[in-house]
Amino acid sequence: MKYISTRGQAPSLSFEEVVLTGLASDGGLYVPETLPQFSHEEIASWAGLSYQELAFKVMSPFVAGEIPDADLRRLIDDAYAGFRHEAIAPLVQTGHNEWILELFQGPTLAFKDFALQFLGHLLDYILKKRDQKVVVMGATSGDTGSAAIEGCRRCENIDIFILHPHNRVSNVQRRQMTTVLEGNVHNIALDGNFDDCQNMVKASFADQSFLPQGRQLVAVNSINWARIMAQIVYYFYASLALGGPARPVSFSVPTGNFGDIFAGYLASRMGLPIDQLVIATNSNDILHRAISSNDHSKHELQHTLSPSMDIMVSSNFERMLFDLYDRDGAAIAALMEEFKSGAMHLSEGALTRARELFASHKVDDARMLEVIRDVFEKTEYLLDPHTAIGVEAARATRRNRDLPMVCLATAHPAKFPEAVRQAGQETDPQLPHHMADLFQREERYEVLPNDTETVHKFMREHLAC
Ligand SMILES: *Cc1c(COP(=O)(O)O)cnc(C)c1O
Repeated sequence: MKYISTRGQAPSLSFEEVVLTGLASDGGLYVPETLPQFSHEEIASWAGLSYQELAFKVMSPFVAGEIPDADLRRLIDDAYAGFRHEAIAPLVQTGHNEWILELFQGPTLAFKDFALQFLGHLLDYILKKRDQKVVVMGATSGDTGSAAIEGCRRCENIDIFILHPHNRVSNVQRRQMTTVLEGNVHNIALDGNFDDCQNMVKASFADQSFLPQGRQLVAVNSINWARIMAQIVYYFYASLALGGPARPVSFSVPTGNFGDIFAGYLASRMGLPIDQLVIATNSNDILHRAISSNDHSKHELQHTLSPSMDIMVSSNFERMLFDLYDRDGAAIAALMEEFKSGAMHLSEGALTRARELFASHKVDDARMLEVIRDVFEKTEYLLDPHTAIGVEAARATRRNRDLPMVCLATAHPAKFPEAVRQAGQETDPQLPHHMADLFQREERYEVLPNDTETVHKFMREHLAC
């Protein structure tokens, strides 16, 4: 399988190359040249497969010719071995035809484990094969950092440096990162905000001359294609559990960077019958405005109680636009050029096509807290703030109550005790057993000034592999 850039001007790459690359050289994002297609008969024949077996069916066409089947199966088994639930992605019913897909059963309690556990093992595999060492560098406002560290901590050919804004991530989130003490894991608390962290990472990718000869940076944010690919699987898994493909299923997805819901879009394009895909946003509602009123303009970033969705511009949206514009790279390049001014307008054709599948809804903090309270009172099921936004968006937009609506639960409520408390819960949600002693564990991190030279010097001096 070959991968091409959404802006049409970068060389096409193999799967392994694309995993080791961040942005394409023309500024675009990589997508598969063609999408695998599955017939209803073929999808129906997968009913009853374990999550791991299904993952193999869904992902193998994307790596065809590069990773032998037996190796891919082992990577998948290793990636999901640390999940706490045998189903990997269990479903819980919360209403009539309303289901929660619990994507927080991985080691760091957020759905990002699905992609980053897999990516860690995949990188290790590719690098060993090539006898190559790399440096993973990323910025985090919370969930990505811990999932990336957990995914890479046992990788022999990777040093991982994660920058978080000093004193601006929650205690649970910080400790999930800083209590991992392997020598190849390096946490930097930057004196600055999340944007400063992100700018530092961007500048480092743009000029990698500070690294020793032969080393390169690898991105683990959701521009990395392998992350999207791993997320397609659970849409198939949930559908098959609820009567698909004979019966279409809808999904509501708490959305930030558009990586998670884009995987759902791909599942639909690959042949899975999906009735509605609901883009659920918090007050950072650029995608809701884009879909509902063709207003894709930057607004100031709002800090909400669902911090993992506090994103001003969703980078993976470009991947979907590429499809909506008939894979015309020049059109996407022009659209992105227009967006530099702060806003872009979609063509009527693109918007109409998007609305056939997508609905959107915005939920502010006050409403989100009511939803946590309401669902708990009725069902004793405790939602995390991100998931609550998805549940509310599903209820507000669903058009067909005869079909199952699956709300993706992107985090465990114990990760966000503050929001849960504000929703009226008197006791904090319990951390799962494997993390019960999180607050007793030793932490290690380095506080550094917001200065590129200092950070690069620190990185050079601390490479362990
Ligand atoms: C990352 C994250 C999201 C947003 O997912 P995207 O793929 O960026 O849209 C939502 N909820 C939680 C808990 C997350 O960690």
